[in-house]
Amino acid sequence: MKLLRRIQDLAENGIAHPWKAGETILLSVLVLCLGIVVGLVLDIETGRHESNVFLIPAIVLAAGLGGFVPGLVLTGLAFIFDATADYFMTGFEARLFWTNVAFAVTGVIMSGGGHLFRQAIINAAKVNLEIRRREADLRAIVDTVPDSLVMIDHEGIIARFSPGAQKQFGWDAEEVVGQNVSMLMPSPYREQHPDFLKREIDTQASSVLGRPRLLAGLHKDGTTFPIEVSVGELEFAGERHFVGFIRDLTERQKAEARMHELQNELFHVSRLSALGQLASALAHEINQPLSAIANYIAGAKKLAAKGNDPALLDEVLDHAGKEAIRAGETIRKLRSFLSRGESEMRPENLAELVDEATTIALVGSRPRKVRLKTGLSPLCPIANVDKVQIQQVLINLIRNAIEATGERQTPRLLIETAPTQSGMILCSVTDNGTGLTPEVAGQLFQPFVTSKKTGMGVGLSITRSIVEAHGGHIWTEPNPDGGTIFRFTVRGPDPAIP
Ligand code: ADP
Repeated sequence: MKLLRRIQDLAENGIAHPWKAGETILLSVLVLCLGIVVGLVLDIETGRHESNVFLIPAIVLAAGLGGFVPGLVLTGLAFIFDATADYFMTGFEARLFWTNVAFAVTGVIMSGGGHLFRQAIINAAKVNLEIRRREADLRAIVDTVPDSLVMIDHEGIIARFSPGAQKQFGWDAEEVVGQNVSMLMPSPYREQHPDFLKREIDTQASSVLGRPRLLAGLHKDGTTFPIEVSVGELEFAGERHFVGFIRDLTERQKAEARMHELQNELFHVSRLSALGQLASALAHEINQPLSAIANYIAGAKKLAAKGNDPALLDEVLDHAGKEAIRAGETIRKLRSFLSRGESEMRPENLAELVDEATTIALVGSRPRKVRLKTGLSPLCPIANVDKVQIQQVLINLIRNAIEATGERQTPRLLIETAPTQSGMILCSVTDNGTGLTPEVAGQLFQPFVTSKKTGMGVGLSITRSIVEAHGGHIWTEPNPDGGTIFRFTVRGPDPAIP
């Protein structure tokens, strides 16, 4: 039964699964017996002794299947049978004896040849198996990666379209294999791609290999979606092929937009809370011009009643008007600062931005007579920033600085800007306060780090988030005259600067 199964396997797979010597000899002996029977019948029919030709298949089979030793065994058996048969049919005859010896030598040579043939087949089968295993591995990987894999030939014709790609683009593999890859791209990429591919093949220095590129993909239903494509190259049958790994960025972009939204929300809430803390000082700040206006108007009324000094009346009304403008300005600055607004980077005038921020930051500090100096470099008047957010940074830093100078007779604050060599703008807020305490200094920009009894410790962590969202950095340095310098960078207006 086992032998039958092995014979069936031999018929189906060749000698992909090597035969053992025992199995081989058994099968070959059966074939030998068959050869003997056929040979004998023919010898009897023709009266000649040429039957040994029918023994050859058994020797070939033994050597081919089992190698040298089974080949030799079969050669020996065939030789014994042949010599014995000749002896019984004609007695000893030297010619026949030497024919049998020649047959045996041929059998030995055939065994050697069969052995080599068998070895070659087994090696080929091993290589074949390894190739099939690797292909299965590769297929498993390609089938399981969520990204798409699309392989194209040098003319852009799709040769392979992974299950991930089928899911992403909505096409079945049979629908796209053999078509030009530009069918997966919206205009204008679709029209440009053939020329692009041609250039890519003609030039040595590739512009796409190994560099992920952000593009748009075209779904079967006609919708487009953002993708990141990384292209690799392989040579196959003397022709260049390209493999594209395509990642759908829709989800990532959604998550990034959501993060951005949350961050803006956080910045906004933190502005609200900062102003909440300033509420009474703010009310006072606005109340002041309002009371001044009331006083000026009362005075003006009296002057008007007397009617004898129109020039003075004019001056008083002028003052009232200026106070009204001052109150209006403060409210305007506050309003834009409190607005939620979409975060938007655009070129902003730094002098205006700093002026508005200091107005709000200094609210309530007038009695302390903080001496504020600004030194804005004329070399960098414009920054590419979200104005309200950078004002929030400045307000956080200035308020902290004012608090740190609490015990100073003459609290001093300096706000400066300067261009950096890398094309950024360096902004500094310097105070002559207490300096950073060692406990706080080590983890300054971490949330909930505070040395103040009523402090929340979130101001600087939000400040850092804002600066980094602007592509800048923030750090501190001790002020050589006592106190602290907070420095941060923002981008200049030149869009070429990353
Ligand atoms: P909060 O002001 O609520 O404490 P911040 O994050 O704004 O939160 O500040 C964290 C801590 O950093 C402060 O408690 C303070 O100890 C320290 N700090 C910030 N700015 C200065 C400064 N200009 N001088 C000295 N210490 C400072």
